[in-house]
Amino acid sequence: MQNLFPEKIDTLFINCNIATMADNGISINKNGALAVTGEIISWVGKEKNLPDNFKIKCKKNIDCKNRWILPGFVDCHTHLVYGGSRSNEFEMRLKGTSYEEISKQGGGIFSTVNASRNASKESLFTSASKRVKTLLKQGITTLEIKSGYGLNLESELKILEVIKQLDKKFPLHIEATFLGAHALPIEFKGNPDEYIDLVTHTMLPEVKIQGIATAVDVFCETIGFSLDQTKKVFQKAKELGFNIKLHAEQLSDSNGAGLASEFNALSCDHLEYLSLSGAKKMAQHNVIAVLLPGAFYYLKETRKPPVDIFRKLKIPMAVSTDLNPGTSPVHSMTLILNMACMLFDMTCEEALLGASINGAKALGLGNTKGSIEKGKDADLVVWDIDTPADLCYLAGFNPVEMVMIKGDKINF
Ligand SMILES: [Zn+2]
Repeated sequence: MQNLFPEKIDTLFINCNIATMADNGISINKNGALAVTGEIISWVGKEKNLPDNFKIKCKKNIDCKNRWILPGFVDCHTHLVYGGSRSNEFEMRLKGTSYEEISKQGGGIFSTVNASRNASKESLFTSASKRVKTLLKQGITTLEIKSGYGLNLESELKILEVIKQLDKKFPLHIEATFLGAHALPIEFKGNPDEYIDLVTHTMLPEVKIQGIATAVDVFCETIGFSLDQTKKVFQKAKELGFNIKLHAEQLSDSNGAGLASEFNALSCDHLEYLSLSGAKKMAQHNVIAVLLPGAFYYLKETRKPPVDIFRKLKIPMAVSTDLNPGTSPVHSMTLILNMACMLFDMTCEEALLGASINGAKALGLGNTKGSIEKGKDADLVVWDIDTPADLCYLAGFNPVEMVMIKGDKINF
């Protein structure tokens, strides 16, 4: 059934090697060919099996000259709409100033919250556009962006509106996640429950009415929100029909992953301190483990996420840039692939699956994105590499030859 012949072909890639990322592996098709009809992949296989009339009936033939085609990368966890910069803090930390001291001086996440609250929509859009463009040029074709630097209704909505504008302006597919429970705003100091009430009873319903986010996320952590507070947000989010995601077990084990699993979360993210029982719950509820080596690296963490347990329990692992101004100002998926291998001991195959099909699954888009299969969106990248492992191995290299999103070739 795989290769019933399409009626019409818009683009035909020939003379290529294809890493489909289907069937839980890199799944290599050497000397392959791939046909695109409209927005969709309509045929994929060995070039020798191409029906004779394909090259004639197709509008455009692209000779890949033995280059590689992979599915466009899916970056499933970012915070890339924000105001200001934290490069001064980066320098302060290098000179030995502690986090606490930086916080006391008004730094840390609250400097980003202040800058984001004070920024106009236009300036947030302009700065975020540069980041999105950078990701697109590196083969990222699907992107998730979270709010969470507004921490009041007006500013959270402003950030979500900017995300919507980015989705309209750029050809990438962008999923917006509402992360109102990212940190406790200073005006609620000492009253986290009151803030959670605001998130739950005011912000969430308004975000729903405006239809500007598909998922809800919470930072469940000793320095974030408690398990009970997280549960309140999830209950309301479920009631309103949002997908659930969670920043879980990054700095300590709060059993957030267990809770999120009970809510059938799409993913739990970070997970350095995940317990075996938390992992078992994730496996039971088919929750994706999103691993974020950029934050691990910038925070100079030493505790690694339990990759062996994920393997044993067959929990799919996604990897993502976590692009944010504080703990992971990383604008490169290939660098993240390298970090996933070097810091978390993932194999190249695991890292590549993490940046494609498992990233798509972490966004609930596993049926349309993240692998090269007949019937899926034609989100493709042609790479000038010798082998897919080069994308993990050659740090700092960006050998993108061509990006296609939903059948359209992207001009940079
Ligand atoms: Zn995050």
